[in-house]
Amino acid sequence: MLQGIAASDGIGLGRVMLLEEHSLVYSDLPPAPPQEELVRFRGAVETFCRNTRKQAELLRHSAGHKEAQIISAHIQMLSDPYFCGEIEKRIGEGQRAEAALEQVSQLFIAMFLASGEDVIRQRAADVRDIRTALLCVLLGLKEIEVSEAPKGTVLVAKEISPSVAAGINPKNIVGIVTEIGGRTSHSAILARALQVPAVLGLPGSTTLLKPGSYVVVDGTEGQVLPDPDEAVILAYRQKRARFLRRRRQLNKMRGAPTQTASGERVGLYCNISKPEDAEKALEEDGEGVGLFRTEFLFMDRDRLPGEEEQLAAYRRAAAALGDRPLTIRTLDVGGDKALPYLNMPKEENPFLGLRGIRYCLQHPEILYTQLRAILRASVIGKVRLMFPMISTPEELWAGRALLEKAKVELTAQGEAFNPNIPVGIMVETPSATVLADLLARDADFFSIGTNDLTGYMMACDRNNPQISGMFSPLQPCVLRSIRYIIDCAKAHKIPVGMCGEAAADPLMTPLLLAFGLNDFSVAATSVLSVRSAISRWSLSAARSAAQAVMDMATEEDVNRYLQARPEAQPL
Ligand code: PEP
Ligand code: MG
Repeated sequence: MLQGIAASDGIGLGRVMLLEEHSLVYSDLPPAPPQEELVRFRGAVETFCRNTRKQAELLRHSAGHKEAQIISAHIQMLSDPYFCGEIEKRIGEGQRAEAALEQVSQLFIAMFLASGEDVIRQRAADVRDIRTALLCVLLGLKEIEVSEAPKGTVLVAKEISPSVAAGINPKNIVGIVTEIGGRTSHSAILARALQVPAVLGLPGSTTLLKPGSYVVVDGTEGQVLPDPDEAVILAYRQKRARFLRRRRQLNKMRGAPTQTASGERVGLYCNISKPEDAEKALEEDGEGVGLFRTEFLFMDRDRLPGEEEQLAAYRRAAAALGDRPLTIRTLDVGGDKALPYLNMPKEENPFLGLRGIRYCLQHPEILYTQLRAILRASVIGKVRLMFPMISTPEELWAGRALLEKAKVELTAQGEAFNPNIPVGIMVETPSATVLADLLARDADFFSIGTNDLTGYMMACDRNNPQISGMFSPLQPCVLRSIRYIIDCAKAHKIPVGMCGEAAADPLMTPLLLAFGLNDFSVAATSVLSVRSAISRWSLSAARSAAQAVMDMATEEDVNRYLQARPEAQPL
């Protein structure tokens, strides 16, 4: 069994077709006079653009509009005046078109690869793709064609460029395996859009997998099984059938309202870390953002992001969401999230130390800048503000006071903002739980952070394998905490959501519905499965499950009972 990166879900069984790259050798060919080379180069660019437009059209039909843009973007990249200008300059100096193209492409590739940002590094693959396609045109070679591949083909290649991927017919290609590429590469995005199982980043696969041999591609686990025996084939056929059944069920949930079997509606939002994730949340059918973890804007850099930079990020997310809620959580540093440039002192117990709102209130200038940026972004869409790690009412009051100060200053400066921006808190500490009735008086909403809450309530480090069994939201202590927090929110008529991992746990679903949770915020990839889990429970069934469970003394009993309920059976 070979282990690579799980890049596109599903199981494929088929025969290997090895995509061998053309040897794009031109070094023996002398350059023609510059004028002729220039004509050749410009002709190649024209042909390339024509071919690319055709490929984009193909992709629009097979995968969708957004995916087609990955290819169309190549035409735009080629119209970068510096890219083509630099090539033409080198041709003018007597270079052969191929050599000039190669050198300038390598320059761009190196420049993109040097970036710390994934999206920018990704553009190196695009330049490589453009270069290969243009070299093929210049050398009169036919680009690799996969559209003719027979039914049941597993494509194996060093790397599958977006333009090659554009030719994939998902009816015939049952799997993709490559040596290079990861989950965020364009080939992975295209494989997912085409719903072809893919394992990428598997070194040596082009030599280990023989053309024509039979293989299993498990894109969910990132595994490839060469030459499987009958028993393995049978097991994977069954796994594929289960996977397809589940996919069909989940697809039915796309665009459907999030409601129980008895018709009660709840909100289903996404947790995001980057502004562009807001777009992804919508693609996955999320109804808004219940948690924007802004600390990621502060990471992988050497100084704090300024107000304008933050504003641009919040605005981008808010604009993408339109009138759907965007819940922006203020900086939650400390614990396991240290920012090296802040020179935070080393702590004996960082999870019990200067975390979240505690750090921000000791460094009000950092929080103040962020509050100004969030306020300014609040003129767009439905922005809500949320403080993390609240453990006392004073912390909430202090956060609010700083917000009011920012409002006064922005007003004086003539800056627009929403004066009624809702201000909520994460309820994720034991103290906030016990004081939830008091906190509900001054918070406009609650969001339950079960990741921290479980750890703190159980006094249990989730990363310590010796006690990992204790770290479960199904522990009676955690369930009682959650029920109490929701009760307090209800008593004060404020909405209450959950943005910890437990919101996506199907065993938690009936309990959260029975307690009266208003909204669930989960990873974008879990939206459809959570909607499906919610749709399987009527409110009365959920209440009877909760009633049974809330009398139980152990996590084991709770778990066993919920697992056995027919509504909780996997699709
Ligand atoms: C949580 O604690 O449940 C939560 C959502 O916050 P984070 O995981 O960012 O600490
Ligand atoms: Mg937390």
